[in-house]
Amino acid sequence: MHYEILALTAAVIGVLEQLSPALSWGFFAHIQRLVAASDTPDSFHRLHMLVKRAPRGYFVCTATVDGLFSRSGFRNDCILECDGSLGRLQCTEGACEQTPWDGAVDYQAVEIDMFSKLATGGFPQCPSCGRMARPNVRLFDDTHWEQSVARRQEETLDSWLRELDPSCNLVILETGVGDYDRFVREKAEAMLMVFPHATLVRMQCGDGGGDARCISLDLSVEECIRDMHLEIGGSRGGSE
Ligand SMILES: [Zn+2]
Repeated sequence: MHYEILALTAAVIGVLEQLSPALSWGFFAHIQRLVAASDTPDSFHRLHMLVKRAPRGYFVCTATVDGLFSRSGFRNDCILECDGSLGRLQCTEGACEQTPWDGAVDYQAVEIDMFSKLATGGFPQCPSCGRMARPNVRLFDDTHWEQSVARRQEETLDSWLRELDPSCNLVILETGVGDYDRFVREKAEAMLMVFPHATLVRMQCGDGGGDARCISLDLSVEECIRDMHLEIGGSRGGSE
């Protein structure tokens, strides 16, 4: 999902909590339906084919909120969505103990006036207290984001890393990580500290960071993954 859309979403979350559920839920439901109807990129499928062959498994750490990795076949229990997921909802009442939930059914129930693009009914509500729901995504200085799911996912990632032999040849692939994705970048750099034989491959990035174990490829993510798939997939005779 483009950063510009995220910025707009941040503004809409503010509106949702203060002024207009019709405007904000009209926007969210429209965006989510576009996301659900969109095709997943071939590069994600190729990447999944590559990483699922790793003998000790894989883990995804992503700042995207559109569920693209999950929809491309990556296992849900092997994904850390560090900024949450648009497809998951949370309560807008900070004191409510309801944990985030899958919003697929709630999104379908939202009624949208196709002329005004405003939601006219079916506003998602918290199943515990009945207050208005909102997407479980973190945006900029959003202090109301419910972090329990992301924390649990991060604990799973850290547990997986602890089970790896520190001398293993861990390969860390950074795909399209920008300066604003500090969490993802710092997580990758922390892994380099723990695993002395690790290699960090940065795609679509001209800055290697000065570490000899960091390979920076100034190619698009699509070109990098296509070439890796041809090289590794071809050498193993795999075409899945
Ligand atoms: Zn609630």
